[in-house]
Amino acid sequence: MIGTGYVGLVSGACFSDFGHDVICVDKDAEKIAALERGVMPIYEPGLDRLVASNVRGGRLSFTTDTATAVAGADAVFIAVGTPSRRGDGHADLSYVFAAAEEIAASLTGSTVVVTKSTVPVGTGDEVERIIRETSPDAEAWVVSNPEFLREGAAIEDFKRPDRIVIGADDERGRAIMREVYRPLYLNKAPLLFTSRRSAELIKYAANAFLATKITFINEMADLCEKVGGDVQDVAQGIGLDNRIGGKFLHAGPGYGGSCFPKDTLALLKTAEDYESPLRIVEAVASVNDQRKRAMGRRVIQALGGDARGKTVALLGLTFKPNTDDMRDAPSIAIVQALEDAGAVVRAFDPEGVEQAKPLMKSVTFCATPYDAANGADAAVLVTEWDVLRALDLRRLAAKMAQPILVDLRNVYSPQDAAAAGFQYSGIGRA
Ligand code: NAD
Repeated sequence: MIGTGYVGLVSGACFSDFGHDVICVDKDAEKIAALERGVMPIYEPGLDRLVASNVRGGRLSFTTDTATAVAGADAVFIAVGTPSRRGDGHADLSYVFAAAEEIAASLTGSTVVVTKSTVPVGTGDEVERIIRETSPDAEAWVVSNPEFLREGAAIEDFKRPDRIVIGADDERGRAIMREVYRPLYLNKAPLLFTSRRSAELIKYAANAFLATKITFINEMADLCEKVGGDVQDVAQGIGLDNRIGGKFLHAGPGYGGSCFPKDTLALLKTAEDYESPLRIVEAVASVNDQRKRAMGRRVIQALGGDARGKTVALLGLTFKPNTDDMRDAPSIAIVQALEDAGAVVRAFDPEGVEQAKPLMKSVTFCATPYDAANGADAAVLVTEWDVLRALDLRRLAAKMAQPILVDLRNVYSPQDAAAAGFQYSGIGRA
């Protein structure tokens, strides 16, 4: 497993749990050293136990040395990052191509090289070219196997996926992948074989579709506020229709995270390159981008239109609960909008503080939500962590200079918040 981040570490740990022998490789020596001490470099529920038991069982190990990991492997997965390229939003494939070169130089025997990273359509062709050029005699087949796990529920998602997509243009590649995933196949996870290009596109199409669903309900929420509707009723009313489905219909501050923002942008770049516009996705990306900062303005409005010198408490910072991942979290744009308007920001998050610190340097981080609210003029619920779902609202209000609660996840009922003395506003509820 080349790349031991959210995807590589979870995939490696799960494959080893199925009985495969797995070596996880990372360039980041600190990450590997921590893993060797049993310290997880990321927060993901259940991961520490899964890693520890497979390390004990002798099936899972860690190294910084690609060559030893690749030599003798039946399958090598590329699970390195594919962030947005600075300046233009294309997927930055430099890590994937560098990994491909290193793998190619270390191949022995017959190996399937699997791209698990999210990569634009056609990347498999380039990986194949790099391997053929670097190592013309190697017997290698390049396969696409996009990953659909969600941070926060990654192990369960990996072990019980809705589907496994394998894009392979060669029967030998398909055969090895069938063996690799056989334990899951026995769990009745559907194995979908496609061409390599289709598999690459499936990942982006899935993320763009989910981003569209979120953005759709967010705009409906705005309309609800104007016309006097309740977006939660509307979401339920449409979601009970099986053709629509109830998931991803929770109105909120806009999608963030390490995948949707960068993947929608990268898909748009592919569409541009092939002169095949994706206007719906264009609208989704732009609406969502504006929405995150608009959430900051919503808080300023709740403060009476002027935030200068006011203190705001943010409750939850990560882009969703049960992860420490801060990449493209809506909280970043909200903090910026508030600070631009002259507010002072205090914040609480159960797991995200270490990753948040470099992204929001002027914020004061607090150990509890009540500490964050201490002396604040407004509290903003940004991420619906379990520990933030049952706050003692009276205690929270009593801590604050002004009892204003902006609930960007509709966790609290407007009646309960009002009963606790709050001036309350949610999302999409008139
Ligand atoms: P990450 O940044 O957490 O991890 C990537 C790791 O790869 C880093 O630890 C980095 O040091 C390492 N690395 C980079 N180049 C390397 C090399 N040449 N050799 C060895 N290690 C190297 O990234 P992530 O969140 O795990 O995402 C990985 C890929 O999976 C991305 O393409 C992402 O879009 C995709 N993906 C992510 C998720 C998610 O929820 N995070 C879900 C599905 C797909």
